[in-house]
Amino acid sequence: MADDQHRSPPSSPVASYRSTFKCVLDALPDGVLLTNTERQVVYCNPAFARHWSIPTNLLEVADDTLLLRYVKDQLLNPAAFVHEVERINLTSETSQDEISLKDGRLLLRRSVPLKDPSAFAARLWIFTDVTETEYARTDALCGISNRRAYASEYPQFVEGADDGLMRSVGILDIDNFKAYNDQYGHAAGDMVLRQIGALLRHCALAQDGRAYRIGGEEFLLVCKTQGASDALAFFEALRIGILNMQLPHTGNPPHNMVTTSIGLSIFRGPKQSLAIFDRVDAALYRAKHAGRNIIELA
Ligand code: GH3
Ligand code: MG
Ligand code: MG
Repeated sequence: MADDQHRSPPSSPVASYRSTFKCVLDALPDGVLLTNTERQVVYCNPAFARHWSIPTNLLEVADDTLLLRYVKDQLLNPAAFVHEVERINLTSETSQDEISLKDGRLLLRRSVPLKDPSAFAARLWIFTDVTETEYARTDALCGISNRRAYASEYPQFVEGADDGLMRSVGILDIDNFKAYNDQYGHAAGDMVLRQIGALLRHCALAQDGRAYRIGGEEFLLVCKTQGASDALAFFEALRIGILNMQLPHTGNPPHNMVTTSIGLSIFRGPKQSLAIFDRVDAALYRAKHAGRNIIELA
């Protein structure tokens, strides 16, 4: 442990600041870990030990290899965790990502480089338990992001700084879904919503996009792609994927299967989020009038 408090007399202002800062870090509810330029652990606070259930004897041994193994054992995807640590350590980035634990918890990991060349520490790692927050932002039936998450994330997606990528926004609406409920029952309707939710989550993850349930049988998806054709292919794969589920729906002629209509906008550079939504919604309306089970471009 790099503890040089003894270099200053206990009464000096520097020593007093140090002990105040340590008290502050010790009291934080977030887990804090400090690593030096050799990537060795210099300090961790009690909340870090609590988040990762690290026993006291392991902390006392101060063996970084053992500590890392202990942490990795609790992860759903330890390889991705290590890969990201290695990647961040080679940069001077401030980064943020989420880590899923085997016990169902979700930790937000933030990493901040310490740029002061005279400092002994190279990086600050901050872990926050966001399990409850994430549940509040997830639709209980479909398992994808809910309207609350949409309200806070969608404007940023459309209006955010230009990163040179193509952005697309699509609204999917299940065709003649009222008739489905009427014929097969509400519970069967819920099952369809669940299955579509799972497909959307899977496809959005694969494309680094995000899927939201914004209404009863309405979903909004956003994704970033290199070109417009990739975006169109992404949404076409969703439309076909849902058709290929082959869920019988006799109240949806002529397809007689569960289908979706999609309004889609593909654009580059920051745009006004409400205007994009209105254009996509209008395109969806046209898709319904053109016979359903199609994509209409805004
Ligand atoms: P369109 O093709 O024009 O979209 O017709 P539609 O019947 O799908 O549209 P409409 O807006 O008339 O009906 C939507 C239906 O979605 C009505 C409602 O019963 C159903 N729905 C909304 N939320 C849920 C839900 O959580 N579970 C079930 N089972 N049905 C739902
Ligand atoms: Mg609808
Ligand atoms: Mg509908």
